[in-house]
Amino acid sequence: MKAIGHWIGGELITGASGRTAPVYDPARGVQTGSVSLASAAEVDSVVKVAASAAATWRSSPTSRRAGMLFRLRSLLDAHRSELAALVTAEHGKVLSDAEGEVARGLENVEFACGVPHLLKGSHSAEVSTGVDVHTVLQPVGVVAGITPFNFPVMVPLWMLANALACGNAFVLKPSEKDPSASLLLASLVQEAGFPDGVFNVVQGDAEAVNALLAHPDVDAVSFVGSTPVARHIYETGTAAGKRVQALGGAKNHMVVLPDADVGAAADAAVSAGFGSAGERCMAISVVVAVGSVGDSLVSAIAERLPDVVVGPGDDPASMMGPLISAAHRDRVGSYVSGAAADGARVVVDGVSSAPGGDGFFLGCSLLDGVAPGMRAYDDEIFGPVLSVVRVATFDEAVALVNANPYGNGVALFTRDGGAARQFERDVTVGMVGINVPIPVPVAGFSFGGWKASLFGDTPIYGPEGVRFYTRPKVITTRWPDPSSSQIDLGFPRTD
Ligand code: NAD
Repeated sequence: MKAIGHWIGGELITGASGRTAPVYDPARGVQTGSVSLASAAEVDSVVKVAASAAATWRSSPTSRRAGMLFRLRSLLDAHRSELAALVTAEHGKVLSDAEGEVARGLENVEFACGVPHLLKGSHSAEVSTGVDVHTVLQPVGVVAGITPFNFPVMVPLWMLANALACGNAFVLKPSEKDPSASLLLASLVQEAGFPDGVFNVVQGDAEAVNALLAHPDVDAVSFVGSTPVARHIYETGTAAGKRVQALGGAKNHMVVLPDADVGAAADAAVSAGFGSAGERCMAISVVVAVGSVGDSLVSAIAERLPDVVVGPGDDPASMMGPLISAAHRDRVGSYVSGAAADGARVVVDGVSSAPGGDGFFLGCSLLDGVAPGMRAYDDEIFGPVLSVVRVATFDEAVALVNANPYGNGVALFTRDGGAARQFERDVTVGMVGINVPIPVPVAGFSFGGWKASLFGDTPIYGPEGVRFYTRPKVITTRWPDPSSSQIDLGFPRTD
């Protein structure tokens, strides 16, 4: 069985806490590895290594950092298949999806390659007589990144590319459910030439996370995961004086207007609802059928579900893999069995159609007549269960979306430009797709929801990522002639 340890100061380190967690192949339901869970003392040692590396890394030339990032980009590109295979082995998603994850992660390294430009400050000459002002963006210091199970390559790259480019040292605490990809990332970062200690991986659970939040030498925390944990990270981290961005869960709606192409909308709903077995924070989990489109849309979605091939992620025939764990599979399944009791209609039951064997599989489920107040609507299910809510008007659809406590992603399907324009203006959600079901912004923009989907002020990656991982400094300069120097207790004026 594979033993999965930490990566500290450029070396693989076996955990010393005596605590471990099992890692599974979810497609076969067997344990394949055992990951170390760091103690607070181990977290302290990794943060010290990072703090010491940060002291010199912060002054490294941006051109040198760019060179390393270009090399990292080439290495990630060369190791795409290996990274994707690790993701499929421990997460379960199908290989093509895992390759897509790596590609979207790589975009963030490409963005960070522009670091000499991204860190350019501004300069104003002669703001007052003989006085100039310029700005610099300095690193924050040691950044901790705490990541979820569902994107073990992409989400760490959302963080580490910009954090390192901006001159910070980084401590990654990956999900304990699929930790192996983090170690391959670490070895590629080293091979790209980043100094040892600038990028570290500490494996662990809540104990390691809480030790990072309490550590005085951790300056900033990037978190991606569920809303209750995001709230805890934000409240604890900011109370300890840290800069925190904490991205939480989601309940993403896809609003379909009566003028939409029903076939295309059904294709999009199936792709976005069941891709990665619904374990995406941008997955569509609620289809909002407006007016007359309801019956035909529900039929079109239901018709497509038997064609979704469920099976192991490493089988090229599979379109949807297993869920992350047996416990999560059972929890997701309980929403289907509970839906009828709550008054919804189970149109397609993916619990009874799940492949047999020991894998953590479910089939695709479709629920109709779902409404706020039912568990299937109120909770983030995070699995292959698509709910349909029927409303009479566009205004009702927008009100439904806006009343939801989450605000990560939303999509509108229509041919009506005026309705789309009003929707994008009025909806209280951070990422909006117009005829695009999963509107994950490309790396030149930034990613972040509203409401309970993001705690903190800055979204992640892209320009906002650079803002989060730097501190601005404004320098006002004068080179006076000593012969004209005099005391002046008045407030500085610019005239
Ligand atoms: P999770 O919140 O259970 O775990 C995320 C991280 O927090 C892991 O590293 C885990 O070890 C740690 N953690 C778990 N419980 C903790 C606790 N009590 N105290 C401190 N740390 C703790 O999330 P998950 O199940 O790994 O991932 C799925 C969730 O992540 C879903 O809710 C999904 O919507 C969300 N997600 C959000 C985004 C986004 O960008 N908004 C992206 C991906 C996933």
